[in-house]
Amino acid sequence: MNGTVLVINSGSSSIKFQLVDPEPGDVLAKGLVERIGEDEGRLSCTAGGETRERTERIADHSAGFALALAELTDSGVLDPDTLTAIGHRVVHGGAVFGEPVLIDDHVVSEIHRLSALAPLHNPANAVGIEILRSTLPGVPEVAVFDTAFFHDLPAAAATFAIDRDVARENRVRRYGFHGTSHQYVSERVADVLGRPLGELRQIVFHLGNGASASAISGGRAQDTTMGMTPLDGLVMGTRSGDIDAGVLFQLHRQAGMKVDELDDLLNRRSGLKGLAGVNDFRALTELIEQGDADAQLAWDVYVHRARKYLGAYLVLLGGVDAITFTAGVGENVPALRAAILQGLEPFGIVVDPDRNASGSGERHIGADGSATALLVIPTDEELAIARAAATLVRGSR
Ligand code: AMP
Repeated sequence: MNGTVLVINSGSSSIKFQLVDPEPGDVLAKGLVERIGEDEGRLSCTAGGETRERTERIADHSAGFALALAELTDSGVLDPDTLTAIGHRVVHGGAVFGEPVLIDDHVVSEIHRLSALAPLHNPANAVGIEILRSTLPGVPEVAVFDTAFFHDLPAAAATFAIDRDVARENRVRRYGFHGTSHQYVSERVADVLGRPLGELRQIVFHLGNGASASAISGGRAQDTTMGMTPLDGLVMGTRSGDIDAGVLFQLHRQAGMKVDELDDLLNRRSGLKGLAGVNDFRALTELIEQGDADAQLAWDVYVHRARKYLGAYLVLLGGVDAITFTAGVGENVPALRAAILQGLEPFGIVVDPDRNASGSGERHIGADGSATALLVIPTDEELAIARAAATLVRGSR
């Protein structure tokens, strides 16, 4: 058991946790505490091939963490004395954090300070950190930031063309999100291809409920679709992605929509949900099979947007060596990958229909003659966090 890392994703009403052996990457336990603060909370935890569930009121995050730790200890997988580190997923690292960091008082106060940029996420992340610091005081804790991989975006990609003083005062810039996933996947691509990361130009599509694409050159991010918040860019389950900001003024002036209603509209009632009434991709494809025209349009808008960024990033990188799909939709919907990559043979991008339609795990989906490698790489943010935490803690000893 020596050398395990407890990976925590503490949300506003849920806690996801995994106990990971970072090398070779085994998941020893995996669980979820949800509906914290509601009348009926729920804990589920899988360890040693057995899943246990409990339903009871979970008053707050402290109670949730206590339940999760008791479950891990009872099932015999967690011994706090032999835990190498606790790795926390933290959504916003702002312009401050470009790398994972060992958590101390200063880091916690910075994460709180960055809550203005991620009001739904950073406070909940910080609560998780504070509870575990007092519950397991002897275990080093590491914060791994969702924005870190994009911390050093070129200024031309990170800067929005608005009044520079307003931007500076309010820390308005492109921060990017899903960075842990984009970094992990792009590093796996280099391994799978057997080529140095430093010489690869890559485009990564992280297509899940949230969705983003990135352009990466030599292992460094050059651009990404998410912006100051995770609302920008691609069409998502419930988020609009790119939208003319003028639409918001119009909706405010014409329809009297207030800022909270606009926030709700773009974050929760848009994307696939807004266009087709469903945010889940499986439900969307079922509707399309039934001939639903709205669902078909949602698919078309989704594909169109993804192809637009593919084209933009192809030019930005001056050519692309690998295009990779990851996350729930990217890994599991061959027809979508085919639609995004369709007709790009003149650019040396050629899909193999059979490879694309079959297989699982890390795999090639390009034709033998495709100049650009086309891949599916399952993302594993927990493993990436566990490895980052273990590396940092070992390095600091
Ligand atoms: P994620 O946020 O990465 O968990 O991805 C969630 C999205 O992936 C949802 O829209 C799911 O419908 C979609 N998804 C997951 N598995 C499948 C599958 N086997 N086929 C189609 N869509 C899937």
